[in-house]
Amino acid sequence: MRKLDHNQALVLFSGGQDSSIALIWALDRFGAAETVGFDYGQRHAIELGARQSVRRELCARFADWKPKIGPDQMISAHGLKDIGETAMTADLDIVTGDDDLPTTFVPGRNLVFLSLAAAYAYRRGIGVLVAGMCETDFSGYPDCRETALNAQIEAIRLGMDCDIRLETPLMHISKAASWRLAEEVGGKDAVALINEHSHSCYRGVRVTRHEWGYGCGECPACELRAKGWRDYVHAASDTP
Ligand code: ZN
Repeated sequence: MRKLDHNQALVLFSGGQDSSIALIWALDRFGAAETVGFDYGQRHAIELGARQSVRRELCARFADWKPKIGPDQMISAHGLKDIGETAMTADLDIVTGDDDLPTTFVPGRNLVFLSLAAAYAYRRGIGVLVAGMCETDFSGYPDCRETALNAQIEAIRLGMDCDIRLETPLMHISKAASWRLAEEVGGKDAVALINEHSHSCYRGVRVTRHEWGYGCGECPACELRAKGWRDYVHAASDTP
């Protein structure tokens, strides 16, 4: 079995709120953290730009983390676009489909990402994958669930004959609790940085600045983000 370095993390990093919090969690916990992102023909390149902003600002404002932030790698996953047109990659309305899943669901997307990330980590000798999937305040995507991800990381360990691990620090916590986690790890500066520079809006709107960040304010991702932020801020103001 190939032994990988469990003091090095590879963060699946989209530039969204959750994966940005996963990134600072990894920087706090491991000796080094690299990032990997996937280009699958998203409708909006804004999230990909947010990746670079978050990385750049972390390096600029967190001297302790700067030396730990390793290279960033983009991997093409355009096959997902070839397979089916969903609202993430084509101009469809964002609604709930017949299968009770929103049209933003890209079947198997996280399973593909996890396999590609594991293959890249294997090549680089990195022993821990870190990902921001969450089954608490989530959009109902079955490939965000812990059971699916645990089954897949086991298959990867067997199929690559290596001791790779998967950490999903946000899996069982609410969006408000994920902001509290960001504050624990990096203080209010880290919260402000992620609020300002990460991007969640499905419509790729980055014109209006709300208290919870940029976005259209109406799509499911914005609604989830706005609610999480409000719960976080109100819970904090209730604390004596
Ligand atoms: Zn939106």
